[in-house]
Amino acid sequence: MAAHKIGIIGLGKITMDQHVPVIAANPAFELVAVSSQRGIEVDGAKTFRSPAEMYTAVPDLDAVAVCTPPQVRHGFAREALAAGKHVLLEKPPAATISELDDLAAFAAERNRVLFTTWHSQYNAAVTHTRELLAGQRVRRMAITWKEDVRHWHPGQKWIWAAGGFGVFDPGINALSIATEIFPDPLLVREADLTFPSNCDAPIAASLTFATHQSDQQLTAEFDWRQTGSQTWDIALEKADGTELTLSKGGSRLEVNGVLDVERKSAEYTDIYDRFAQLLRDNRSLVDDAPLRLVADVFLIGRRLVTDPFHD
Ligand code: NAP
Repeated sequence: MAAHKIGIIGLGKITMDQHVPVIAANPAFELVAVSSQRGIEVDGAKTFRSPAEMYTAVPDLDAVAVCTPPQVRHGFAREALAAGKHVLLEKPPAATISELDDLAAFAAERNRVLFTTWHSQYNAAVTHTRELLAGQRVRRMAITWKEDVRHWHPGQKWIWAAGGFGVFDPGINALSIATEIFPDPLLVREADLTFPSNCDAPIAASLTFATHQSDQQLTAEFDWRQTGSQTWDIALEKADGTELTLSKGGSRLEVNGVLDVERKSAEYTDIYDRFAQLLRDNRSLVDDAPLRLVADVFLIGRRLVTDPFHD
């Protein structure tokens, strides 16, 4: 079967780190064009200043990956669907739930594939944790996602603006694992959100969750002020006392302190394999659960204010 001709919108960090090399290594895709406001070029692909120019000049483009900040993702995705393209959405898939609902409905109407990627879910340790927890009662979950924003997001002004998600930019990765592995739907019960006094997005958050079950201790701590070693861990305890620890962003699982699964990260390789499969089946995959939790956090969260943040 001929490779799907794909374009990328937004040539920032994640595009260069992952999308470009992973597409180049996947025979199911051919990167033929990119749309970059700054005119960034990629070997073997034509560069355009806007998606509209790209769609006109490359009419046989099959699909696009929208890798911009979330605030502008809906507009680019809708324009792509209107132009008849299948669409892969970087995480978070939209700035709001209503935007994502709109895209899902429009993709169905246009008979195009829409794919919400949650890269942290593409880990063998996450899949195995989900299998181990299926149908089980979880007594405790403690998510600890603490990293150094200056190291991971230098100069990214959009991330501190309204709709930029702040610490929920990485935090939603943890939530995408939690929604994937947890045997019952998670409900947000309490949220303390700490905003730098000069920013419209939080730098830290403390969350408490519940499910329909009782006697559960379910928490998440997100903090962007951690220097030195970085922490991306989820500790779980089943009702029978079994302890599961997912660490390194979901790539390693220990059960009762013994290594169970560890696989070198191939998240984006798996994402593009899944996209190829969805295109073959002409089927969308739209998962709004992690975004829904973040929206709920902002609905009921308490606002705390801390020192101003400067890059
Ligand atoms: P980034 O480095 O800031 O790149 C975003 C790019 O989008 C910009 O360089 C720009 O590229 C384009 N763009 C289009 N409209 C824009 C606007 N209004 N404001 C700013 N940029 C605009 O961001 P990133 O780190 O790649 O993150 C992009 C998305 O990927 C985010 O949703 C993020 O959560 C997700 N993601 C990031 C990582 C990571 O490690 N950084 C990992 C996984 C997922 P052009 O000038 O080429 O148009």
